[in-house]
Amino acid sequence: TILQRWRNDPTALVQILREAQEETDWISPELIDALAAALHLPRAKIEGVAGFYSFFYTRPRGRYRVLFADNIVERMQGSVALRERMCRNLWVESGKVSEDGLVSVDTTSCIGMGDQGPALLVNNRAVPNLDAARIDRLCELIRGEVPLADWPTDLFVVADNVRQAGVLLGNDLQPGDALRAAHGRAAGDGIEASNARSWREGLPAGLAGPVAVIEEIRRAGLRGRGGAGFATALKWDACRNAPLAAGRQRIVVCNADEGEPGTFKDRVLLASHADLVLEGMTVAAYAVGAARGFLYLRGEYRHLLGPLLAVLARRRAAGLLGRAILGIAGFDFDIEIHLGAGAYVCGEESALIESLEGKRGTPRNRPPFPVTHGYLEQPTVVDNVETFACAALIAQHGGDWFAGIGTAKSTGTKLLSVSGDVARPGIYEFPFGVSVGEVLAAAGTADTQAVQVGGPSGTCVGAAEFGRRIAFEDVPSAGAFMVFDSTRDMFEVARNFTHFFAHESCGFCTPCRVGTPLLKNLMDKLANGHGSPYDFAEIEKMNHILQQMSHCGLGHSACNPVLDTIARFRPAYERRLSNASFEPAFDLDRALAPARQMTGRDDAGAHLSIHAEEEQ
Ligand code: SF4
Repeated sequence: TILQRWRNDPTALVQILREAQEETDWISPELIDALAAALHLPRAKIEGVAGFYSFFYTRPRGRYRVLFADNIVERMQGSVALRERMCRNLWVESGKVSEDGLVSVDTTSCIGMGDQGPALLVNNRAVPNLDAARIDRLCELIRGEVPLADWPTDLFVVADNVRQAGVLLGNDLQPGDALRAAHGRAAGDGIEASNARSWREGLPAGLAGPVAVIEEIRRAGLRGRGGAGFATALKWDACRNAPLAAGRQRIVVCNADEGEPGTFKDRVLLASHADLVLEGMTVAAYAVGAARGFLYLRGEYRHLLGPLLAVLARRRAAGLLGRAILGIAGFDFDIEIHLGAGAYVCGEESALIESLEGKRGTPRNRPPFPVTHGYLEQPTVVDNVETFACAALIAQHGGDWFAGIGTAKSTGTKLLSVSGDVARPGIYEFPFGVSVGEVLAAAGTADTQAVQVGGPSGTCVGAAEFGRRIAFEDVPSAGAFMVFDSTRDMFEVARNFTHFFAHESCGFCTPCRVGTPLLKNLMDKLANGHGSPYDFAEIEKMNHILQQMSHCGLGHSACNPVLDTIARFRPAYERRLSNASFEPAFDLDRALAPARQMTGRDDAGAHLSIHAEEEQ
């Protein structure tokens, strides 16, 4: 049935593996054999894909597969103690499967619940707001082997936690509004929309239909909300003008693989404003002439799949997707949802496209860029969830209206996912240009020493810099805003981020594959008291290599949190140095302890001289 649903299409391999695993708990050698035969793919290719994504299991895991979010904010909220409690209750070691095969408990990166953590995934369903009582309830359900479908629904309730709404979160869009305005009078088909008249009157004479929409996006100054801030109109224009061979089509992709630790604003947009996002995708399709769309949803947001499919069905029934949308001849466009499977690197647009094509999520060489050679080598627009939501509002209200919000170089508003040491964690919508201090005041903070803006690959802002502005021209952010008060150890924050990068490196290029674990080990060595000032120079060297030689942004930014925190919180590093001069990471004398025990000799002469001297 799964193969039929995906029409035996090898480009749907990731989806086929995901659905098959949901039925069988793991991807067995027999399953791989069967898929290889049915999809006419080499077995090694399927094994390679299955082995790439951390949510695919090529060895048996427990029937209940528990993954605790291991983001620094969740650690601050007590996730480590709760994981240990669950392991004790269920007689299982973290990272292993219980002997009866019932349960496995492990960690994963951030699952987008920083505002209601600690949180975990059990068989891909998110359970937020963990405390000791909730953990005990989960353990009872697991021990009782209660099917997940019969678990109390209150365990799975995920709140939006919108603390401050602006034009995006307070939008009044009715399905179809933005599309009607985009098509509007300019195309001369008689469809009237109240807002269409106003913004089209400001356009250069002769502009109509799709070209007018791109012009309006340009006037709005819309820049991609995924972090890089590329001009959306340029991207759409390039895709629209890319040559199209016979039988090929243009593609629109919504990047909902919100994997940056500390970010969860796309979760809220998709949960409560899906029409706005899907309408923005359809406006993009209208503008570039696309016939097919994908929404690539991160695997951690599996709980949103059902509601999103319902919204898609409603939009099809209303004539807002499918053939001749709004009765416009030739405007055929539909959207399908693909789920990721736990790979942060798939947030990079070319890696995401590889994943959509059923492959390992390895970033491509660029150029060529996706706008000319994207999904299956077809012209493809890839934009962030929030970018599409903005595009819908621009189509509805016009570019000048949008450009009037924010700053000259960063127009519109920005959604911030605020978590950590704040009284009111959740989603805040501010016009671009808001200062870090203003966000902190709104969220309710005291004694804040630092904010990590934009997640591990972003910027660490110290207390002296709280006047800095959230904007592309000052501190850009894809959405994460993690707050740390003065009780937090900023060294441990940076160390957590180095573990994250080492775990998420896709392994394609050597500098990152080798460099990120080396950086992690270096931080662990400092944490264990074996560091020396020499290690700071090593970090600088590592940064140079990663910056210059890595293939994609993950490698480029892997050292950022360490360098940022050394610059601002050097004492947090220095107090870990056991020696002002070089000290080897390997303690030879300690390693010889078993030999001393075996020979029964443990006098001063059986120790290396430095330790013997210390003991005297
Ligand atoms: Fe993969 Fe890292 Fe290289 Fe990017 S920099 S391609 S994540 S190994």
